[in-house]
Formats: sequence, structure tokens, C-alpha cells
Amino acid sequence: MQKVQNLFLRQAGGSCLRKTVSRRLLHTEFGCLPVSFTWMKMSCGFWNRLVKQTSAPVLRAAFVENLQLSIVDGVDKYWCAEMLKCLGEAVPDYAEQVKAVVRSRSFVGMQPVDVETVLAAWSIKWNECWQDLPEDPRNASSEKVVCSTYDKWMSDCISQPAKYVNFDSNFNTEHLMDLVRLRVGGHWLNVVTGRWIDGGRDRRSRLCWKCAGCVVEDEKHFMMECPAYQDIRDNFQELYNDSQGDMRKLMCHPKQHLLAKLVHQLRTFRDEDRLLHFDVHLDSFDSDIELNPLDDEDELVEVHQSGNIVA
Ligand SMILES: [Zn+2]
Repeated sequence: MQKVQNLFLRQAGGSCLRKTVSRRLLHTEFGCLPVSFTWMKMSCGFWNRLVKQTSAPVLRAAFVENLQLSIVDGVDKYWCAEMLKCLGEAVPDYAEQVKAVVRSRSFVGMQPVDVETVLAAWSIKWNECWQDLPEDPRNASSEKVVCSTYDKWMSDCISQPAKYVNFDSNFNTEHLMDLVRLRVGGHWLNVVTGRWIDGGRDRRSRLCWKCAGCVVEDEKHFMMECPAYQDIRDNFQELYNDSQGDMRKLMCHPKQHLLAKLVHQLRTFRDEDRLLHFDVHLDSFDSDIELNPLDDEDELVEVHQSGNIVA
């Protein structure tokens, strides 16, 4: 079910995002939690009903038997074993109490789990990636650059969906696709594609070939700095005047349809001479959009300065 949700989000917004886009960014972008949160909430409710129920002796006996096989015999394929593993990550003290009760066979002492505490612990774990990010994504470590770029440049509040998600105007589909791809790092700029081309280039080597300025072609350079695109930017002065040189203000501008149009025009202009450069590799790279829902792992990879790739 989780893979279906991930696949759906990759298709949402009129865009088909390659599987290398972080699932965490996808959920944040569209303002939704993984369905696994709902699964956990329902499972905890079922667990508590089993713990408290006394009117169905057969069901009670089956639950106790499942607990004993999971804890005393250590068989990890049973439902109780999987459930306690999940609970152990969220509320370890409670999981240990359950194990102690089962080992002592004093099942009347078993207490229900606090569902809200479990969900709060899961939420903290889910949001860990947004902690301790550098203000400037260009100074971020390889492990943090993806989240830092999104948090500092693309979103003014990561607890809210992207502004275009609730936008009440019709978007041009192509414009929207380009905007979404730029926002979540599923785009065509060298700062991203350089992670895979030739086995991965050092971030400092992922240069813009539009301006020959020996500058890394990242999202901010593309949207605000590269002189090669200035003629296009001049047609969108409203966006740039309002954002006052702030990348986040630009990407969160209230006129998202205008922003999407700008991104599309910039991307189109960039692609005009793409084949004059190195991008023969991108044909195979873009084939990532042939998504396999059974192969939907995060591939947040960056190349350290040493050249090592980390996940
Ligand atoms: Zn440039």
C-alpha cells in the first residue's frame, strides 16, 4: 500500500517524477503523511482491543499464543512480533513491559498502548531529516543537501503543502510539471544529474554550461543568477521585484502559475542546446520514469569530495 501511495505521488501534479526523488520530499510537497501512519494507528487500535477484550475466549487464546510464539519462542514472522518491533521503535519501555508480562505469563497485567504517544514518536522520527540544516544549501553536507535545498529555497513551511497544491487557478500542465520537478529535485540541472553521470561527479564539478562562469548549476543559479537567462527573467519582473533576491520568496510567490511559466521558459531555453553538451547520458537517465512500484527505494545519493557515494 505504501508503494502505491509513493507511486501515486510521483504521478501527481501532472508530473512523473523519477524514483530518485526522495519520498520524504514527495510527501512534504503534497502535504500528506505516509499511509504507514494510518496503518500504525489502526494496528494500535486493534492491539488495544485484543489486550482489553475478555468476551471472546478463543480470540484471547489466539492472541496469547501469538504473543508467546513471538516473544518466548522468538519467532519473528508472527503478527505480534512485527507489532512489537514497531512499538519498540516508538515506545521501547512499553514493548519491554509487554515482553515481561508474556514471559511471566501474567497477562492480566498487560496494559493498552497510548496510541497518540506512538504516533508522536513516529512523527518525530519522520521529521528528523529537517533538523539542523544549514541556512545555505550550498554549504550543506552531501547527506543534507537535498533536504536543505527544499527547506531553505523551496518551502516557507514544511508542515504545509506547496502553494500550488491548493491553487485555485488552472495550470498549464507542462508548466506545472517543470515547476514540480524543480521543487523536489527531479529536474535536469547539473547539480542533480551530476550525481549519476559518469558514476557521479563531485558537486563542485557540476557546472553551468550556459554562462561558462565556472559556477555550479544549482536551482538558485538557474532561477536567479545565471546571466544567460536574464532576457527571460526580464519578462517576469513582478516575480523578481517581489522576491527581492530571496530564492525562497521567489519559489513561494503567490502567483504560482506565473512562476511555473517562468520555470518552463527557463527550462525550454536551457534545453535548446542541451545536446551540444554532455547530455547524451540523460536519455537513459530519464528512463527512470519507467517506475517499478516494487523498486521504489530512496536513492538519495551524493558524491563526497572523496568521490565516495553515500546513500
Ligand atoms: Zn550559468
